[in-house]
Amino acid sequence: EGAAAFSDDGHYVESANFMRRAMEYADMLHKMVIDHAEDATMCSGGFMNEGKVSYAMGVTGRPAAGEDIAVARDLLLSEMTGCHIHIAHVSSAKAVELIREAKAKHVNCTTEVTSQHLYFTDEWLKNYESSFKMAPPIRTEDDRKALIEGLKDGTIDAIITDHAPHCNEEKDVPFNCAPNGIAGLETSLASALTVFCHNNGFTIDRLIELMSVNPARLLGVEGGVLEEGAAADIVVIDPDKEWTVHGNELYTKSLFTPYEGLTLKGRAVLTVVDGEIVMKEGKVLK
Ligand SMILES: [Zn+2]
Repeated sequence: EGAAAFSDDGHYVESANFMRRAMEYADMLHKMVIDHAEDATMCSGGFMNEGKVSYAMGVTGRPAAGEDIAVARDLLLSEMTGCHIHIAHVSSAKAVELIREAKAKHVNCTTEVTSQHLYFTDEWLKNYESSFKMAPPIRTEDDRKALIEGLKDGTIDAIITDHAPHCNEEKDVPFNCAPNGIAGLETSLASALTVFCHNNGFTIDRLIELMSVNPARLLGVEGGVLEEGAAADIVVIDPDKEWTVHGNELYTKSLFTPYEGLTLKGRAVLTVVDGEIVMKEGKVLK
């Protein structure tokens, strides 16, 4: 019926055999499997990255090894079945390394990273704020640097939002009780421009490739190009516009954002959907 891909997002497929069959069927349809790679037996009881910060806070962690094991298994299954596996929101240095090695062996795999994993580290969670809670969790500075390296050498194919807004009543609870996920849609471009272009010297062309061209290509959907006859879905960016994020000024009904009070550099100033202006200077028109 036109599904672009198949995914287990949020709930990793624990059975290797079930995943094998899913990949075989997806491959028959020439579709990819998008994989939320976190082994539940290691990760489901945890609330943040396992490491020095979680030990000091007394919070049960989700170890990076739980992600690495899941990524390794599904890369092996991709090698076995030939199915295109897309590792969603990669977050650990080791997982980036595994994907880099698999790509070198021509395993049919791709991956992506969220803007928030490029911006923050687990040090930001020290005040038990649920706005930083997501899965896979925000990890260490070494992991963050490895993600930037992965973008640099093409191991990572896309930067994404992992937009998962939760209403205030859900997030405004003790840290361990809050659900995972943040509203990423309105901050992802500015965050990526700040970290990726301004702080790490990448070009805006490369950012557009990672946030627009590649995602459209991977999903096999129209878009990501400016050309005659193509859909007029266009974002105009002011790369140097500085603005301070306040959750209550965003359009999302989820007031909790990890960027609260932070000043980001770069913003979308105009959005055109199918030829019609729908956002101008931060105001949604329709
Ligand atoms: Zn996920």
